[in-house]
Amino acid sequence: MLKNEYLKSCYRALSQRNEHETEFLQAALELLESVDIIIDEYPHYEKMNIIERILEPERIIQFRVSWMNDKNEVCVNRGYRVQYNSLKGPYKGGLRFHPSVNLSIMKFLAFEQTFKNALTSLSLGGSKGGSDFDPKGKSDFEIMRFSQSFISELYRHIGPDVDIPAGDIGVGQKEIGYMYGYYKKICNEITGAFTGKGKRYGGSLVRKEATGYGLCYFVDEVLKTFHDTGFKDKKVIVSGSGNVAIYAAEKAIELGAQVIAMSDSSGYIYKRGGIDLDIIKKIKENKSERIKAYLDEDDKATYGNTPSDIWKYKCDIAMPCATQNELDYKSALKLINNNVMIVAEGANMPTTYKAVELLKKHNVLYAPGKAANAGGVIVSGLEMAQNTSRYAWSFKRIDSKLDSIMREMFHEIHRTSKRYDREKDLLFGANVLSFHKIAKAMMEQGVL
Ligand code: NDP
Repeated sequence: MLKNEYLKSCYRALSQRNEHETEFLQAALELLESVDIIIDEYPHYEKMNIIERILEPERIIQFRVSWMNDKNEVCVNRGYRVQYNSLKGPYKGGLRFHPSVNLSIMKFLAFEQTFKNALTSLSLGGSKGGSDFDPKGKSDFEIMRFSQSFISELYRHIGPDVDIPAGDIGVGQKEIGYMYGYYKKICNEITGAFTGKGKRYGGSLVRKEATGYGLCYFVDEVLKTFHDTGFKDKKVIVSGSGNVAIYAAEKAIELGAQVIAMSDSSGYIYKRGGIDLDIIKKIKENKSERIKAYLDEDDKATYGNTPSDIWKYKCDIAMPCATQNELDYKSALKLINNNVMIVAEGANMPTTYKAVELLKKHNVLYAPGKAANAGGVIVSGLEMAQNTSRYAWSFKRIDSKLDSIMREMFHEIHRTSKRYDREKDLLFGANVLSFHKIAKAMMEQGVL
């Protein structure tokens, strides 16, 4: 509940104007609740109406995407790009292809991305985009034709110094390849206008691993600071089995943990002694099979067809890496009863508002996605630097840079939360730190 009158009125206006955008309102409220505690110290923010300006995206682009499927039928989808904030640099954020995509989800993701990018200390603004197109079950040619049609509109709004898209749910290297190739052709501009590209044409090493690895570096540093321990011998649950989940699990195992459960949108697998990640990679990375297929290769695992039941197992570290609002109050309660040490978000806003409140009430460490999953955008920033210099860095160099930026980011957040005597409240630290960075840039650039 907000206390400050100015924040209350901004949030009331936001809710009235965006009545049905539940995800966007959830993300905004979460930020405002942190700012509520400090806003009285900074009267000039109210005077310059910083909050209302921060809550309003700079630009929203919505467009029709028409394309032909393999049966020569004409299909129509809706495309979006929300260019939320460019105060700190060109807009930057992923593209999501998933049937659930709507304006509320795009706006919440672009809002979160703005604050995430500010935390990384890279000079990047925040954006997000995508379409309600479902790549599942589509042929490569259908995905290519859709991606080209999508870019035939989006190209005029993006560019290496304007807005640089990357991947997200349903958009991996293949889709980026189709979109980048078409962008290059119609713009006659061979630059790094996308990140997450293939290595043969300007992509960076470690981009694929970046979000999952970065998440583990962040968690490792949190655990060292608060519990004088790391991943070694810990039991870990990772939800999802896509890009973020697979590489979070890989790094957790490399750091000495056992990953005991993973999931997809149809169910989960659990194995007490630890999952064999090679099997997950085999069924998920190239073939997109259902996670149940894991049982064909390992009969010691068990399967359940309710994905959220994954949180009922006892673990030390919970890493939701699938999608928004996948970890609810009931799941949080199970984790708390099982003495979980930390819930760290690989996905964007995977923990519901009520679940976050509960975790905080029970003093469970909680690493919010806007900080913990920033590894992807960090390596995207490094990919942009490599494209500009036309020079490719080694895996080791990029990985070690990612490692140090994630750990330093945690310490900056921790210093902020300590300054306000909320040492363990990393959500508060991340929100206040990133808010100040953006608010100060806004003050310095005048009323725009
Ligand atoms: P992918 O499409 O590669 O993977 C998503 C995974 O989540 C799939 O295994 C999917 O299963 C599963 N899933 C979807 N819904 C549920 C559910 N309700 N319960 C359990 N599993 C589910 O996406 P990414 O890994 O790229 O992204 C995952 C999350 O991480 C998103 O929130 C994204 O915004 C965030 N993120 C991604 C970054 C990146 O670099 N890719 C960077 C920062 C954040 P199925 O195959 O059945 O759909």
